[in-house]
Amino acid sequence: MRIGAVADDITGATDLCLMLTREGLRTVQVMGVPQPGSRLPDADAVVIALKSRSIPAADAVEMSCAAARALQAAGAEQLLFKYCSTFDSTDAGNIGPVAAALMDLTGCPLTIACPSFPAAGRTTYKGHLFVGDLLLSDSPLKDHPLNPMRDSNLVRVLQRQTALPVGLVQIGTIRQGVDALRAEFAARQAAGDRILIVDTLSDDDLRVIGAACENMPLVTGGSGIGLGLAANVIRSGKVRPQPVARRMKAPAGRPVVLAGSCSAATLGQIEAARSAGLPLLALDPGALADGRLTPAEIAAWAIAQPGTRPPVIYSSAPPDILRAVQDRLGQHKAGALLETTLAETARLLRDAGFSRFLIAGGETSGAVVAALGVTMLYIGPEIAPGVPWTRSAAGPDLALALKSGNFGGPDFFLRAWDLLENHDV
Ligand code: ADP
Repeated sequence: MRIGAVADDITGATDLCLMLTREGLRTVQVMGVPQPGSRLPDADAVVIALKSRSIPAADAVEMSCAAARALQAAGAEQLLFKYCSTFDSTDAGNIGPVAAALMDLTGCPLTIACPSFPAAGRTTYKGHLFVGDLLLSDSPLKDHPLNPMRDSNLVRVLQRQTALPVGLVQIGTIRQGVDALRAEFAARQAAGDRILIVDTLSDDDLRVIGAACENMPLVTGGSGIGLGLAANVIRSGKVRPQPVARRMKAPAGRPVVLAGSCSAATLGQIEAARSAGLPLLALDPGALADGRLTPAEIAAWAIAQPGTRPPVIYSSAPPDILRAVQDRLGQHKAGALLETTLAETARLLRDAGFSRFLIAGGETSGAVVAALGVTMLYIGPEIAPGVPWTRSAAGPDLALALKSGNFGGPDFFLRAWDLLENHDV
């Protein structure tokens, strides 16, 4: 195994798998910390998907180290800690604490933090993260239900999460090329820095940064840095690049969309689905909390929809409604209730013959995939930057598109199905 990655959520893991696959690596996604003694799949890259972004930092550290140890035991030559391209975290973590623990585990004196994913509009300049044309703190991420991002200065954000000294490498140094960047890393390490935020504006920057990190035992970042790390592997000649899938065979069965993300992109996709006339069901969190609406009733609604057009079941809500729900139920309780509801609904739909699941939201996808009993994924064609179709490699035979909330264009829920063979929506 050339690259072993630990991802802090499931859609992030899939996003990284897509990046590594596109660069030519045979990549498999594994759900959760592997059981002791179990064998990881034989692949160029293995990405272990955790649900560790929004849990207590100590738990995230323990889980991440266990996953990293399994990857090391399977021979991973380089470890990558993957988090969101919008640096989703709070002052309590979990990026800083997990990065520090993995540095200890791998004996890594200096690493980088590179969330940028230019193809999806996430860039970093002078240490400030941009989402499209907006600073992170002005973007819709400021209203995220679990980790509102209200500071764009990543040096500051990460330094609040860790005692390790955090520094910055600016774009000018990166544009001087690989040797200059390596020299900068050495100088910063000598000066006492341990984690460096690296400016990144383009895929070319990612390749330079990746090349400069070739010998780092641990790298941290978004899926973008996977591009540079995979390119190192291909350049080394150790792996012959694999062709990229353009379409994917999907098991027979009905399609459904389950959306738990409250991101601007997902809200737009729901509106596009409404305009296109897909059957829509909005979940009322109050009714769920009071037991006036149950997963069985939600599943029955989906099963009763006519034809093969995917019904869309969503809890997604704009910031004002979201805040009202959180005030009533509590932030984490509301999130858990909706995740559990969508997960249980998915399980009932699977049992009723649904086999193609499009799920919007990282935490939501983690809960749903666990309920579906899928433990390993093969990576299929790219639907949009960061989102591939996947097919289960263990557990029930399903096609799954796991979409990080903010990814995909407005017609994502309408067009994704076109990449599946045997699909007649
Ligand atoms: P994203 O990928 O956009 O971050 P996630 O699924 O990771 O999406 O996170 C969204 C969180 O918001 C989940 O925990 C979800 O259950 C919760 N949530 C969804 N809808 C609502 C709602 N109407 N009220 C409160 N919380 C919600």
